[in-house]
Amino acid sequence: MMRLPKFRYSAPRTVREAVAIRADAGPESAFVAGGTDLYPNMKRRQQAPKHVIGLSRIPALRRMRFGPEGVSIGSAILLSAVENNRRIRRDYPGLAHAIGEISTPLLRNMGTLGGNLLLDTRCNYYDQNYEWRQAIHFCLKKDGDVCWVAPGSPKCLAVQSADSVPILIALNARAVLVSPSGSREMAVEDLYSNDGIAYLTKRPEELLTEIRLAKPDGWRGSYRKLRRRGAFDFPVLSVGAAVRREGDHVAEARLVLGGVASAPVRLTRAEEALRGRPLDSSSIADAAEAAAGPSRPVDNTDFSVVWRKAMTQKFVAAALRDLQTGGQGEGGRGEEREDI
Ligand SMILES: Cc1cc2nc3c(=O)[nH]c(=O)nc-3n(C[C@H](O)[C@H](O)[C@H](O)COP(=O)(O)OP(=O)(O)OC[C@H]3O[C@@H](n4cnc5c(N)ncnc54)[C@H](O)[C@@H]3O)c2cc1C
Ligand code: SF4
Repeated sequence: MMRLPKFRYSAPRTVREAVAIRADAGPESAFVAGGTDLYPNMKRRQQAPKHVIGLSRIPALRRMRFGPEGVSIGSAILLSAVENNRRIRRDYPGLAHAIGEISTPLLRNMGTLGGNLLLDTRCNYYDQNYEWRQAIHFCLKKDGDVCWVAPGSPKCLAVQSADSVPILIALNARAVLVSPSGSREMAVEDLYSNDGIAYLTKRPEELLTEIRLAKPDGWRGSYRKLRRRGAFDFPVLSVGAAVRREGDHVAEARLVLGGVASAPVRLTRAEEALRGRPLDSSSIADAAEAAAGPSRPVDNTDFSVVWRKAMTQKFVAAALRDLQTGGQGEGGRGEEREDI
């Protein structure tokens, strides 16, 4: 049985208190929301904070507010609360669907949206217990000096694996970060860096307080995920897609891949292939073809690299067909199609 190492725990009641404690405690501390990522990582000794700062008792982080501009979702809101919110399901059905694809109902009742955005990157050589990793002399990401996936690589290639991220980027979501030096807002897209170790651009002491989405204003999103087990599994390829149509034509499109690099991958050429055209089988085929190039998975998750890359076109096409047919309409898990 894997046990948690000893650590000190604080339970602040306000954002100000939380960031002050984090600043005082320094680099050997960490925030925890639901703990469904951090605590397993601590048990495996992948992360070893000596001081853990709990966010679950801060009411300001558990608020969801709808206003004329859109919605603000507190970072410590449970995934299940976002997934099952009536207005989220109506206005952002692709997001509700993506969240419904995260792990299991039990974990969605523990895990939070903020924790999902900041999920550690994953790799077959890293997501193992301490003894397993010790047996291979560890790796670059923690305690070692070589990458077992690409021994010549100077950087870690662990994979971005959070289900909410590609669709939030497709929907042009923004994140609010707070630290003792103030608050700043940035596009969720800019939160990530293509490095399996330093995978966030956020400073370690910054607290993610909210995720903001503008009113849909004609935008519609969908999410598709490749995984081995239908019941639960991390994505090894995922697609967040959003389009805004004017009449019959696509006025704007945003397409994002997850699970193929250390950061989400924006598919700008595929987006261009859709712009100004009807969302039909021809434009979808062109966009799917343009998506294949930027999809460069490496051999550190489930399934073969060649197959994951080949699936990219099919999953991009499936996500776009969802938008063509309204397949991920109002409501959570949506209809899975058999034709991918
Ligand atoms: C069996 C299992 C299956 C899973 N399957 C999936 C899956 O299919 N898809 C998926 O996306 N995830 C999956 N997960 C991962 C996890 O459950 C989710 O990503 C969840 O959303 C994490 O949220 P949390 O609140 O528990 O995060 P935590 O574990 O509390 O935190 C995660 C990280 O974010 C930091 N953090 C959390 N909140 C903040 C904040 N507000 N500000 C700054 N830093 C913060 C923590 O320090 C930590 O580094 C799975 C986990 C398990 C155990
Ligand atoms: S990609 Fe390489 S360095 Fe990164 S976790 Fe995997 S084996 Fe380790």
